[in-house]
Amino acid sequence: MPSSSSSSSSSSSLPTTPNSLKVGCVGGGQLGRMMALEAPRLNISMRFLDPTGSDCPAAQVVGCSGPTSTPGGVSDRIVKGTLCDEDKLRELGMGCDVVTMEIEHVGVEGLRKLEEEGVNVQPCSRVIGIIQDKFVQKEHFAKHGIPLPPYTNLPTIESIHDAALQFGLPLMLKSRKGAYDGRGNTVLKETTPQAIASALDDLGLKESDLGDTLYAEGWIKFQCEVAVMVVRSTTGETRAYPATSAIQTDSICRVVLVPARNVSAAIRHQCEQIAMRAINALGDGATGVFGVELFLAEGRHGGGTEVLLNEVAPRPHNTGHYTQDACGTSQFENHLRAVCGLPLGDTGLICGAAAMVNVLGASSGDINDTMQGVNAAMSMPRAVVHWYGKGCRPGRKMGHINITADSHAEIDASLAEILDLERISVD
Ligand code: ATP
Ligand code: MG
Ligand code: MG
Repeated sequence: MPSSSSSSSSSSSLPTTPNSLKVGCVGGGQLGRMMALEAPRLNISMRFLDPTGSDCPAAQVVGCSGPTSTPGGVSDRIVKGTLCDEDKLRELGMGCDVVTMEIEHVGVEGLRKLEEEGVNVQPCSRVIGIIQDKFVQKEHFAKHGIPLPPYTNLPTIESIHDAALQFGLPLMLKSRKGAYDGRGNTVLKETTPQAIASALDDLGLKESDLGDTLYAEGWIKFQCEVAVMVVRSTTGETRAYPATSAIQTDSICRVVLVPARNVSAAIRHQCEQIAMRAINALGDGATGVFGVELFLAEGRHGGGTEVLLNEVAPRPHNTGHYTQDACGTSQFENHLRAVCGLPLGDTGLICGAAAMVNVLGASSGDINDTMQGVNAAMSMPRAVVHWYGKGCRPGRKMGHINITADSHAEIDASLAEILDLERISVD
């Protein structure tokens, strides 16, 4: 049932234009919203499942106040419910040609049932199941020869000691499921019982929770973080977008630079090849856009730069937002094309260089403080503001600014002003 008052029969009558493809998307946050903005040009009609119903960012642009809306403001385009609720997932999929997602923290079992019932889920539930559990993801990529940081499962307290002995300190402890923006990770600096208890406490865990909740990674002293968006079609055709460098503060991506800065063309190419190999290694049903996060580290065996895969997201990704204004086809359009079995679009840059700056809610929580970078961007040539329509909270991703130019030097001039207003320092 779409939220409170629509019936299942009206769910199947998703408002469409003639011959449009119907896509249901699990999650209606900013990524869903940016897909929804691309959909009409491709003659695609979208419906979203989101816990906040008509308040979600996608609802604002998908026509939730259209002719089929109910007095509650919810329409056949929005299903209100949690992303694991099997009935809600079924309702989302009803009458849709494809079901896709904008987030990996979804009900894999519910998606698997939809597939059994004949719904076309892209990427498929098997792939989401692999990616959703970061330890299973690591095991999968290791099996396929993708270079990774050293990692191990942590079923017991003893295994934390073993991992620290094996990989050294500091040790990165990561939640296997449900993590984002670094929430779910903690750094263990010593192995006293107090330090271990406090690390578990940081993650909201007790010793008795260990089993299949946590794993460890060796600490990587990376030179920089690189991200590559990969798009893979239902036919297995795979294309990479240009490698970017991502600057994180407090585990949140703040700035993305394209092409990746201070990274040789050869290493950028290597990053793109490894990213495509990783996505191809996910096999059939690895469809749509994937964000592949990589570390560039000093070679462990005295060699030059080593490229290691950090993690993969099975959806458009924050580090790929620059594609909206800097590439032949945006990641959002290519995601829709890929999951619908349409030809893939050009992933190349259409400018010399680009940057993306995330706009986070100011620490004051005041929208006027938050808007400073956005206001400056409004008067800059070749700067484009993308706003998500979310309530303002400190640190919350509220929108982003894309800048395009002919060269890195030109980018830096506009970027300096925005970084200053966004209180971002880049070494
Ligand atoms: P996202 O929001 O990208 O999904 P996440 O919560 O899944 O983030 P990770 O990508 O695992 O978290 O880690 C967040 C950040 O922490 C990384 O971008 C990197 O800066 C740092 N980090 C992660 N793993 C390691 C590691 N093994 N060694 C050093 N730093 C790391
Ligand atoms: Mg993650
Ligand atoms: Mg990450």
